[in-house]
Amino acid sequence: MSKKGSSDLYSTLISSAPGAFLASKVGLPQPETLRRYKEGEPPLPGPLLVGGSGRLVEPIRDLLSDYEFAGDDTDKFGGIVFDATGITTIEELKQLYTFFQPLMRKTAPSARVLVVGTTPELVRKTDERIAQRALEGFTRSVAKELRRGATCNLVYVSPKAKTDFSGLAAPLRFVLSAKSAYVDAQVIRVNEKPATAPANWDKPLDGKVALVTGAARGIGATIAEVLSRDGAKVIVADIPPAGDALSEVANKIGGVALALDVTAADAAEKIAEAAERFGGLDVVVHNAGITRDKTLANMDDARWDSVIGVNLLAPKRITEALSANGGLKEGGRVVDVSSIAGIAGNRGQTNYAASKAGVIGMVDAEASDLAKKDITINAVAPGFIETQMTAAIPLATREVGRRLNSLLQGGQTVDVAETIAFFASPASSATTGNTVRVCGQSLLGA
Ligand code: NAD
Repeated sequence: MSKKGSSDLYSTLISSAPGAFLASKVGLPQPETLRRYKEGEPPLPGPLLVGGSGRLVEPIRDLLSDYEFAGDDTDKFGGIVFDATGITTIEELKQLYTFFQPLMRKTAPSARVLVVGTTPELVRKTDERIAQRALEGFTRSVAKELRRGATCNLVYVSPKAKTDFSGLAAPLRFVLSAKSAYVDAQVIRVNEKPATAPANWDKPLDGKVALVTGAARGIGATIAEVLSRDGAKVIVADIPPAGDALSEVANKIGGVALALDVTAADAAEKIAEAAERFGGLDVVVHNAGITRDKTLANMDDARWDSVIGVNLLAPKRITEALSANGGLKEGGRVVDVSSIAGIAGNRGQTNYAASKAGVIGMVDAEASDLAKKDITINAVAPGFIETQMTAAIPLATREVGRRLNSLLQGGQTVDVAETIAFFASPASSATTGNTVRVCGQSLLGA
């Protein structure tokens, strides 16, 4: 994977023996080296415990039958899942306390904790709806209490999913793996659609064709690498001046380079044309993005127009054109890149934050229409990611951005890419209309 980006000198120093000793003495934050995906390694850093008394305990065990389950003698858990779908009253929330309290000191470094509930908005009974909504506060607080790179997330399953829970497999396997290293305190909603498991969970995109915009460098280049690792033929697109870097990315992954300005009137046409010789497009990742920062008082309208044009109008037009003319196949996947700036807002970024919040709105607004063609649309909202862009931020500001999250460090481009690859998987047919932050539970906009 690409190694370009800023280096986190503080983390390197702190992970040395004298550095760690000094940090613990003076109470400095000690970021854990996060466990990330490596082919052939087990998904979790230890055995998995599945608890709770809801309707999903047995299906979860079945869907994860190749995982190593914890026994009575386990003292460090690599993963803990609690099925909270059985909680239908406020009083029953006590089950969370009873189950988790004795386990809080028993998580391995980079462990995954997962609470599974029923989508509150779709629950009819008042008490159950309240109790299910309460899971969010619980999850986010556990995420803040866990140490050493362990995370806690929440998956809500539609109450309409009654007998076929196959759509739950991909979200479970993403959250309960090293691929979700920087995804913390997030909520993923799973609907009742069934899913077909890939022949090989390490190659879920085998035979698929994907397009990534803005792929000449940074996050986009890593997305292309990860989709290719997962088996996809990848078309990488970027503006003509980025041609050399783009060809390098394409060559590295056996992909195809496409010179493309996403704001061009014929952008969708060009994409469809490029994908045609591989049998059409299965995945579109709208990653190209720009910033043109100025406080609103100082902003000229060119800055406003270009940011809205590249970040929001272009992905909307391209998705609409591709889904209308079949350029994106039925069963396709659209993944947009938002930002926590679109959630928290940022001084000097009214244009950027509006565009990135608009991306979240676009995912909300388009999910149900695209579902008619079995196309899913989701967004990722990265927090502080170590890239050339964030390396250029002045040191003091950079340190604040990097440390103000539960994992005490910036994310890697691969963390964003893994989340996108999860949404891009054919097995993710039950996950649409979601925005997942890849921010280590950043305090911004939380
Ligand atoms: P980057 O600037 O390194 O890369 C963006 C790429 O998009 C560049 O290669 C650029 O040439 C390309 N691009 C710009 N305009 C284009 C156009 N009109 N047509 C085609 N390609 C175009 O940025 P990055 O840090 O890798 O960010 C990638 C995405 O992630 C962006 O959407 C950005 O807003 C978002 N994001 C980044 C961070 C972060 O911490 N780096 C945080 C939140 C969100």
